[in-house]
Amino acid sequence: MDKLTRVKALNPANPNKATAIFGGKASGILNWNDLAYPHFYTLRQRIRSLFWTANEVDMTQDVKQFSTLSAQEQDAFLKIIGLLATLDGPQTTIALKIADYTTDPAVKSLMATIADQESEHNHSYAYVLSSVTTLDKQIESFEMGRTDEVLMRRNERIVEVYNNFVENPTIETTLKAMVYTTLLEGLFFYSGFAFFYNLARNQKMVGTSTMVSYINRDELQHGKAISDIFRAALAENPEYNTEEFTEWIYDQFRHSVEQETLWSEYVLKDIDGIDLEEMAGYVKYRANKMLRMLGLSEIYPEHTKNPMRWIKAYVDSFDDTKTDFFEQASRQYVKTSDLNGFDDL
Ligand code: ZN
Ligand code: ZN
Repeated sequence: MDKLTRVKALNPANPNKATAIFGGKASGILNWNDLAYPHFYTLRQRIRSLFWTANEVDMTQDVKQFSTLSAQEQDAFLKIIGLLATLDGPQTTIALKIADYTTDPAVKSLMATIADQESEHNHSYAYVLSSVTTLDKQIESFEMGRTDEVLMRRNERIVEVYNNFVENPTIETTLKAMVYTTLLEGLFFYSGFAFFYNLARNQKMVGTSTMVSYINRDELQHGKAISDIFRAALAENPEYNTEEFTEWIYDQFRHSVEQETLWSEYVLKDIDGIDLEEMAGYVKYRANKMLRMLGLSEIYPEHTKNPMRWIKAYVDSFDDTKTDFFEQASRQYVKTSDLNGFDDL
C-alpha cells in the first residue's frame, strides 16, 4: 500500500487547483473561487458561522446547582464529561493529520477550522468541570479514558483505527479514519449529549447544556464536512469502493451501536427521565443518518424516525440565535437557516 507523504508547504511547479484530495498535486496556493470541489467553500462557511468560546457561557447557576443533583446524576455528569473529553481529545489531532496529508488546500483549510473548534470543545470540558467541582474530581474525570474499563473497551476500535492512520497513512487508513470521525461526530457523543439535555428540560445545569448544544451543533457540521470529503475521496479512488470495504463500514456501525448502547446502559441506568430503550433507538436512528451521509443504506429500517421526540427541541431545530431553548442573553449569529437546515444533519 502506498504511503501518503506529507504535503509540501509550497510547490509552485504544481497547479493551484488540486488534482486530487489525497496523493494529488497542488501548489499550496488556495483560491476559494477556483476549487476542485466548490461546495467545500460552503462547508467551511457553515462551520465558521458557529464560532463560540466556552468563557461566553454563564455558569453561575450551574455552580450553585451541582451539589443539589442526586449522587447518581453527579456521578453520571463526571463520567460523561470524561467520555466526551476522551473522544474529543483525538479529534484535534486527527483533523490536523488529515490536513497534513491532503493535497487539496481547501480540505486543509477546512480541517484547520475543524481542529480549532475541537480544541475549544476540549477547553469547554475543563471549563465546565472547574465551575462545578474540586480539582481532584476534575482530574479523576479526565482520567476515565485511561482507567475506566467499560469506556476503554468501548473505545478499542477507535484507538486502533486512528493510530493505524497516524502510524501508516495510506488512502485506505485515511478513509477508515474518516469513517470513525463520522461515527464520533454523528453517533458516539449523542447519549452523552442527551444526558445534559435531559437535565436542562428539568431546569438543571442549563449553562452546561447550553455549551453542550454548541458542541453538538459543531459536531453535526463536522460530520457533514467529513462525510462529504470521504465520498469525494472514495469517488477519486474507486479501487477502494469495494464490497469488502462497504461491509467493513457496516460492521463498524453495528459494533458502534452495540458499544454506545452498552455505554448508555452503564452510565444512565439510574437517571430519571431517560428511557434506555428509547436511547437505544435514538442511537440506531443516528447510525442510519450517518450511513446515509456516507452514501450507504440504512441498516435499522425500524429506526428511521427519532424516537426521543423531546430531544428535537435541543438538537434538531437550531434557530438563528444560539440560545433559544436556554433563555440566556441571546446573541446574533449568522442565520443558520440561510446556510442550511439542521434537520438534514
Ligand atoms: Zn468536538
Ligand atoms: Zn467535531
